[in-house]
Amino acid sequence: MTLDRRSFLKLVGAGAGAAGLPMIGRAAELMPKGAKRVVVVGGGYGGTIAAKYIRMMDKSIEVVMIERNDHFISCPFSNLYIGGILKDLSPLTIKYDKLAANHGIKVVQAEVTAIDPAAKVVTTSKGTVSYDRLVLSPGIDFRLEDMKGYDAAAMEIMPHAWKAGPQTVLLRKQLEAMKDGGTVVLSVPLSPFRCPPGPYERTSMIAHYLKAHKPKSKIVVLDANPAIASKGPLFTKGWKDNYAGIIDYRPAKKVTEVDAGKMTVLIEGLEDVKGDVVNVIPPQRAGQIAVAAGLVGDDKNWCPVNPNTFESTKQAGIHVIGDASNAGAMPKSGYSANSEAKICATNIVALMNGKELTDMSGINTCYSYITDKEAVSVAAVYAAKDGKIVAVPNSGGVSPADFSAAKMEAIFAESWLKNILTEMST
Ligand SMILES: Cc1cc2nc3c(=O)[nH]c(=O)nc-3n(C[C@H](O)[C@H](O)[C@H](O)COP(=O)(O)OP(=O)(O)OC[C@H]3O[C@@H](n4cnc5c(N)ncnc54)[C@H](O)[C@@H]3O)c2cc1C
Repeated sequence: MTLDRRSFLKLVGAGAGAAGLPMIGRAAELMPKGAKRVVVVGGGYGGTIAAKYIRMMDKSIEVVMIERNDHFISCPFSNLYIGGILKDLSPLTIKYDKLAANHGIKVVQAEVTAIDPAAKVVTTSKGTVSYDRLVLSPGIDFRLEDMKGYDAAAMEIMPHAWKAGPQTVLLRKQLEAMKDGGTVVLSVPLSPFRCPPGPYERTSMIAHYLKAHKPKSKIVVLDANPAIASKGPLFTKGWKDNYAGIIDYRPAKKVTEVDAGKMTVLIEGLEDVKGDVVNVIPPQRAGQIAVAAGLVGDDKNWCPVNPNTFESTKQAGIHVIGDASNAGAMPKSGYSANSEAKICATNIVALMNGKELTDMSGINTCYSYITDKEAVSVAAVYAAKDGKIVAVPNSGGVSPADFSAAKMEAIFAESWLKNILTEMST
């Protein structure tokens, strides 16, 4: 199949998305730029919302969203799939066709390989796209140099399942194939990482699966942190009430090396722990494209940003939202990414129209399932103060310690997921 340039632009312009289109081959300009254009990199929790809200607020701004996949699978609720509660990943999967058609967003399926902040051009696997402002929401990549032996081949033996998709399916299959009486090892990196309560929800969901299907088995959690990083007392109670003898939680055990051949992980060169199934959650940093563009700060991991606009403090004209950004007190969650996208979009529209900026107001709630029917939550509101994002005092809290609301929280969690995925895909 061949496509001339005019038909290609028509297709993309119609918001049909570029999924399945042939590669252009060399870095030709993909589409001529009109008066005002924002390019958004990443079609996940942050990117979809930034793209949509810019278009909802100002139709005169052309928005091009570039995403490597033709669909997106949500990490939120992927632990329920691993725990055997969800049959498949279809309820967690969104496509971009309605988002594109409803809002006139030009969706391009391509890998962004380089950013030239001076020329204001991104290079993709299909050609170049120029921008007036760029929003990056590329999520995370792994600091593999801090986890010796954990390479692409090792990931196929010891999955991380920290980006939802084939890795998630692999981990579930391994649990299903494990003998009863087996040991699952789960390693948790030092904070900060994507989804602070995520590893502990995963522990709960794996324990739930073991209790139901392989009751002689156990899960050993090797946590690099000195304690459970989020909702600690709630997880501790949930585990004691439901999974005594199944979860062996070991704090301050930092896994630094793996041996996929032997199915062992090594704790700071001192202690080997062997598993029948090994789930390695590696240390993380901002998605590679943000690192390559020189957007990470002194920590070399996360991108410092202006707390009101999310504009990079390293490169003017580039905004970083979601997990990749250093958003102060806001946790690296899908809900945070959604909230950051909205304030970022609001202020990009203001900046492009010479209008006054709006002060940041952010929100986050993170639900974590303990059993198939019970969940716990943490919520907070955030604001910018003295150049930093801080939690507004007394604005949130955690769900009741006696689990009196746990069944309701599970219902709220389900509707949260439905709402946020609908917002991202329509
Ligand atoms: C197991 C687990 C459970 C979680 N549970 C929750 C929860 O219950 N609630 C919650 O709020 N959060 C939860 N999270 C966290 C949530 O998934 C992330 O915080 C959220 O996805 C961050 O959004 P983002 O836009 O930064 O990145 P993502 O949503 O990961 O989106 C990034 C997108 O950018 C694309 N991309 C990256 N680089 C490029 C490139 N160079 N070119 C083209 N495309 C690119 C990727 O393909 C991806 O689609 C969970 C995470 C995990 C791992």
